Amino acid sequence: MNKNFFNRILESAIQAGAKPFLEGPSGEEYSYNDLLEITAKFAENLRQLGVQPGDRVAAQIHKSPQGFFLYLATLRAGAIFVPLNTAYKAREIEYFLSDSKPAVFFCSEVSAKENQEAIEAHVKFGSALFDEAGHCALLSAEVACEPNAAAVERAGSDVAIIIYTSGTTGQPKGAMLTHDNLASNGQSLTEGWKFTSSDVLLHALPIFHAHGLFISTHCVLLSQSKVIFLEKFDAGVVLEKLPESTVMMGVPTFYTRLLADPDFNKDVTRSVRLFISGSAPLLEESSQQFLERTGHVILERYGMTESAIITSNPYDKERKIGSVGLPIEGVEVRVTAEDGSAAKIGEVGGIEIKGPAVMKGYWNKPEKTAEEFTGDGWFKTGDLGRLDDEGYLFIVGRGKDLVISGGYNVYPKEVELVIDTAPGVKESAVIGVSHPDFGEAVVAVVVLDAPSEQISDKVISLCKENLASYKVPKAVKVVDELPRNAMGKVVKAQLRTDNAKLFK
Ligand code: ATP
Ligand code: MG
Repeated sequence: MNKNFFNRILESAIQAGAKPFLEGPSGEEYSYNDLLEITAKFAENLRQLGVQPGDRVAAQIHKSPQGFFLYLATLRAGAIFVPLNTAYKAREIEYFLSDSKPAVFFCSEVSAKENQEAIEAHVKFGSALFDEAGHCALLSAEVACEPNAAAVERAGSDVAIIIYTSGTTGQPKGAMLTHDNLASNGQSLTEGWKFTSSDVLLHALPIFHAHGLFISTHCVLLSQSKVIFLEKFDAGVVLEKLPESTVMMGVPTFYTRLLADPDFNKDVTRSVRLFISGSAPLLEESSQQFLERTGHVILERYGMTESAIITSNPYDKERKIGSVGLPIEGVEVRVTAEDGSAAKIGEVGGIEIKGPAVMKGYWNKPEKTAEEFTGDGWFKTGDLGRLDDEGYLFIVGRGKDLVISGGYNVYPKEVELVIDTAPGVKESAVIGVSHPDFGEAVVAVVVLDAPSEQISDKVISLCKENLASYKVPKAVKVVDELPRNAMGKVVKAQLRTDNAKLFK
């Protein structure tokens, strides 16, 4: 049986027909019928180029409706979509192209020039130029096609997308997501977040990452609702479009930027039924402020490239601030203590997951895949967390960021939460730095809101008041900003390297 996930979208789109699907950045509208026509045409353009089922189609393109249709067309053609962050430079692109060996690489003219050698070496049919407005000569070629034709036959276990992880803890890995993975996650989220055909999703996320590419959009497609597709996050434009929207999905910085805008208030959010946040931890302070300002509790959820969404705070039941919620339908979550036994309620351990949404493995990295799955088939997320007595998951940080000082485990998040309450501190990152006595010493790196005298002493005394002594930072460093990767995530490895000699 044909398990190509596009067929689910096809079914939904045929039913929706002339209903609006997508409103583009300059107000242009595409109906579900348009989606069927455009993706049939693009899929045929790809086929005529020579793209075969199972071939990779890589894209490092500016966000546009056409860029999104290219993703859907790739699925429809049975090929594998490989989205690449637009921030990546030639050295990084060389790795992605040599690793994924695509049949075609959609990119800008500048990128085609900068990556000429890598494209010649690794891309079968070379580059296809795709400009900022979404125009692409290859995809414009007139071809005969059938808008309602079924997608190319694929098995559920065939790969639909190879999506690289953000590279926060090392070299990005290509997560292989299958048609079944997409179907399972799409279905669970559409139901869990209660999408209906009258919803309008405000979409300001990039489409080179799981969140913007498919976690958000599949909910729209499967429920026959509408998406307002903004080029990027711009607080002014978001404020203008929110009154027409019923759902917004964002990363935590979207919410802090909205809160910083004096025009953001209850009136602007009057038609919104749901705000969702994920991809990085949401500050508890942001949640509280958001609640006071709008009356909405932002629904925080937890996901990763390797499995899309894992847990989500419930739609109808209590949303616990600081928690990432309960496992979504079809995902099992367990927390494993250091000795391999099941962690007790409240005890911190490694978060492991199982279920139909978990990736097939890492592309070209069988050893890495084998390392990250347990013997009984659970995927080790690399994150540390604890479950409460109602099954809600609380993330305390990444395993690689755990600090072991004098033999005691220190979870950076716990210390960061205390430091963030210090007057004058905007944000903080707690790391472990090699130390002759303690093995590792706790070090706090802080960014200030405003100049503050003796901030080190203040931070340390606040920590002493609130934390066991082994968790108190041995040093506090003030920086202008924290190092972040292309996805905006704090790169703690960089901070560890910068401070490696602090106690030597
Ligand atoms: P790499 O695996 O290459 O080091 P990465 O883990 O940052 O990069 P992603 O797959 O984009 O790449 O991010 C997934 C990670 O983001 C999760 O493992 C988790 O650490 C973090 N994350 C996602 N959502 C949340 C959340 N709501 N709260 C805390 N952390 C989150
Ligand atoms: Mg990761």
